[in-house]
Amino acid sequence: MYPKLFIPGPTHVREEVLQAQTVPMIGHRTPEYSALQAEVTPKLQKLLYTTQRVYLYTSSSTGVMEGSVRQASTKKVLNTVCGAFSKRWHQITKANGIPCDKIEVPMGQAITPEMVDEALASGEYDAVTIVMNETSTGVMNPVKDIAALIHDKYPDVLILVDAVSCMAGVKIEFDAWGLDVCLAGVQKCFALPPGLTVCAVSDRARERARQVANPGYYFSYEQMDKKYEKHQTPATPAISLIWALNKQMDDILAEGLENRWQRHKDMAAIVQDWAREYFALYSDERYLSLTVTNVKNTRGISVAGLNEELRKRGAIISNGYGDLKEKCFRIAHMGDLTVEDIKWLLEQINDILGL
Ligand SMILES: *Cc1c(COP(=O)(O)O)cnc(C)c1O
Repeated sequence: MYPKLFIPGPTHVREEVLQAQTVPMIGHRTPEYSALQAEVTPKLQKLLYTTQRVYLYTSSSTGVMEGSVRQASTKKVLNTVCGAFSKRWHQITKANGIPCDKIEVPMGQAITPEMVDEALASGEYDAVTIVMNETSTGVMNPVKDIAALIHDKYPDVLILVDAVSCMAGVKIEFDAWGLDVCLAGVQKCFALPPGLTVCAVSDRARERARQVANPGYYFSYEQMDKKYEKHQTPATPAISLIWALNKQMDDILAEGLENRWQRHKDMAAIVQDWAREYFALYSDERYLSLTVTNVKNTRGISVAGLNEELRKRGAIISNGYGDLKEKCFRIAHMGDLTVEDIKWLLEQINDILGL
């Protein structure tokens, strides 16, 4: 048997969602396909509290991190770095030859509006990248407050948000917060198999993209827009996954968005309390993630050994990321996992470790 995933992606996929992928294949230029995309898109707009465009990219999230940063700036990009994934966005920006600088905080700390203000004050930048939930450290950055600061003082600066490990797990009000790009692969809080990325794009981000000299092709908003009104994508999409996404969005809306956000808060509180009792939390208490907890290995246990034992009982968690391996371990509490699942997991860990 495959273990139940308590890792921050891919996450546990329910059987009904897996089954939704088995609809017979259809052509991507048919009315049947257009009907599917026309059905799923408004559900995604509801999830993100937006009336603006939501694109479906057949790609993992990293592809859309690249595509979005290529279309964001005619000046210079400010990359905010607080861990491995936000660092990746800086590397992607550099690798594409886009002028950029980074501001960086130590692992476990958050990016604050004050830091962003200080950096943007130079006037060099017209786009900022922010990872909302830094999966490597278990920090959730205050994106709403950062966005408010940017709108208040730097109205020409686009706000690009990687919400990969929190979209569909926490409330993100794309329009009210004034975000310009918000992207997430579906293998995390959406609890789907990997291969698709959902990306909301503001009208002003689409306008900016038209001024960029080399916006790229596969992820280009202009290319996407050529087919958007027809409810299609320029290249062949992962049709089977979109069936599963459509089914999952029905289930998410049936659960109720507020209930879904609350369930994630409840699961996070349980894991955080457990971590405080038996170990310690790695990251700044003021900015703890609601979808993944990074536990400091204060007892010097073998994380690999714990995971081996957990696997025998049908579950796996994640070791610390990169240099934090064995110094920390991460428990994901996202997607379709329940409070019962989380309590069961923590009981298993306590039992294995004799706590
Ligand atoms: C998982 C993750 C990514 C990378 O996603 P892929 O789908 O593997 O490309 C990027 N950013 C964050 C915050 C993540 O958690």
